[in-house]
Amino acid sequence: MTEQQAVNRQTFDQVMLPIFSPAEFIPVKGEGSRVWDQQGKEYIDFAGGIAVLALGHCHPSLVAAVREQSEKLWHVSNIFTNEQALRLAQKLINATFADRVFFVNSGSEANEAAFKLARRYAITKYNPYKTKIIAFKQAFHGRTLFTVSVGGQAKYADGFGPKPADIIHVPFNDLAAVKAVIDENTCAVVLEPVQGEGGITTATSEFMQGVRQLCDENNALLIFDEVQSGMGRTGKLFSYMHYDVVPDILTTAKALGGGFPISAMITTKEIAETMEVGAHGTTYGGNPLACAVGNAAFDIINTDEVLSGVEKRHKLFVSYLNKINEKYNVFSEIRGKGLLIGAELNGELVNRSKDILQACAVEGLMMLNAGMNVLRFTPSLIISEEEIKSGMAKLEAAIKKLLSE
Ligand SMILES: *Cc1c(COP(=O)(O)O)cnc(C)c1O
Repeated sequence: MTEQQAVNRQTFDQVMLPIFSPAEFIPVKGEGSRVWDQQGKEYIDFAGGIAVLALGHCHPSLVAAVREQSEKLWHVSNIFTNEQALRLAQKLINATFADRVFFVNSGSEANEAAFKLARRYAITKYNPYKTKIIAFKQAFHGRTLFTVSVGGQAKYADGFGPKPADIIHVPFNDLAAVKAVIDENTCAVVLEPVQGEGGITTATSEFMQGVRQLCDENNALLIFDEVQSGMGRTGKLFSYMHYDVVPDILTTAKALGGGFPISAMITTKEIAETMEVGAHGTTYGGNPLACAVGNAAFDIINTDEVLSGVEKRHKLFVSYLNKINEKYNVFSEIRGKGLLIGAELNGELVNRSKDILQACAVEGLMMLNAGMNVLRFTPSLIISEEEIKSGMAKLEAAIKKLLSE
């Protein structure tokens, strides 16, 4: 065996594209909602790999699924199909509005496929000018040039040359603004039922229902980006199930593989049929290894036990956050659905989410933000009461320290 050189946080700056600024510690092992770094220091994980680790780190069933499938078949490409992909597709169809599935590897790719499909459908079914996409300010749909252009934060999309055209952004939860721009040339409206990266903003029922109606009146497709809000995150398998509204296309990723890269775009038979053989594709998408983990994750997440436990944990998180707030008055609002929770910063801590994340790491807590002014909680859906309590004590300690500086 060749000798391996030691690596640390400084190595990152010497070898990686400088688009991330990771924490100072390097995690090396995880179990449930606990993580250990190179020095053996223990952390409670409230970040969950950004809403990916729905079942925590190294869940025994997922470990078993990887192990079993890794000894059978890893990859065949889409020149061949495979049993794991077909089974996972059947599960998604049985549990949702959809009857056709397309697997890829990331949220961006699932959304890229969704936007291409929406345009293809409108162009083939109606006319070549029906290409307008209506999206929302603060929305996040991924980092490919198309998805970042549909996203609603110009700072992520600017500076890369010409963008895909015919995309309009209006304020989220503002039905009148949608009504003002939607017309017969609109092919789709795309939204996150709970905006994640944009600051944890939940769509109102009136907005969801109103947008559905406007789409129907204008023959436009409704696309739900549930990359972050899906797979049990809000206490239903998909968050659209909280509303009496059904989309035409839905994308899911993050938690779909419980930490293994896999994503899916799901839609109806009628819409799917406007894509013919060769119209779109992927090399890795739907590979047996990823789908085996997806199947194992799906079978656990889509149970009453896990889904109903999300609301219980939501209440616990919110009650701890309220208690911290009563003492320190550091949050102006605590919001979100299920285990997609945001706490907007107040007073001395306004816009200091990065400082809080750092202070939390020192205390042994992995935290996330959603923009400069919102703390974000996206833990494992099965995090224990004990771990929530311990993590909240660490968060309080971090806040107390920052306030006394
Ligand atoms: C994370 C995210 C994406 C992008 O997913 P990647 O896997 O990073 O490409 C898209 N949409 C939403 C809502 C997300 O939260």
